[in-house]
Amino acid sequence: MENILTEGLEALGIPAEREAVETLAAYGRLLADANRVTNLPAITDPADMARLHFLDSAALLTVADFSGKRVADVGTGAGFPGIPLRVLQPDIRLTVLDSVGKKVDFVDASCRRLGIENVNCIWGRAEELPQLREGFDIVVSRAVAELNVLAELCLPLVGRGGLFIAMKGSDCQTEADEADFAILTLGGRLREMRPYTIPGTDVTHAALVVEKTAPTPIRYPRRYAQIKKNPLRET
Ligand code: SAH
Repeated sequence: MENILTEGLEALGIPAEREAVETLAAYGRLLADANRVTNLPAITDPADMARLHFLDSAALLTVADFSGKRVADVGTGAGFPGIPLRVLQPDIRLTVLDSVGKKVDFVDASCRRLGIENVNCIWGRAEELPQLREGFDIVVSRAVAELNVLAELCLPLVGRGGLFIAMKGSDCQTEADEADFAILTLGGRLREMRPYTIPGTDVTHAALVVEKTAPTPIRYPRRYAQIKKNPLRET
């Protein structure tokens, strides 16, 4: 796993400090062990894990400047993309949040075990955390919801001038078009769709970069049932 990570990071043009690579590999082993216990269907092959979880997450560092930023990972699951970002760019002030307590517990326990410090782990739903409103420079999210729904979970957390970056498949043009109205309504503007190929694979993903240009109107986010049933769209 270490070799794949080192080579992949080099291919992405990201400095691969040995200590960081070892920390990521150790995190991967903790995840594989946890998966074995919970028996969840998941990526368990170390090579696949290195590429599809760690390098996919790391690719975001080529999309924006994360240095010194307050970053939130919404729906982090087992810690992606947040933890790889934090390990590779240690001056990130990271908050990870997830609505499922045992996932947050896994991330929290793993960070403690591996000495990944100052990661704020929050068990909660993104749309129910008013204390975090506009509190971040960059909000990232992978595989959580369709963009028109995800925008309402994430954009309220981004401060003025900050970014919301959604990780999507490369065929996300329609999804982006359908989220256009939601993004504008919530105070955002789609800046770019940046495709990238995960090193060592032929998997292409895209980072959708949304800029926060205006405050989110106070009536958003709505309750999840509302967001889901009735995503923001032009009427
Ligand atoms: N980002 C991770 C996990 C994706 S699975 C990865 O790419 O590997 C989606 C995760 O989002 C789940 O862990 C789920 O609990 C969480 N989630 C879904 N809706 C959420 C919400 N409204 N607020 C916070 N977490 C949410």
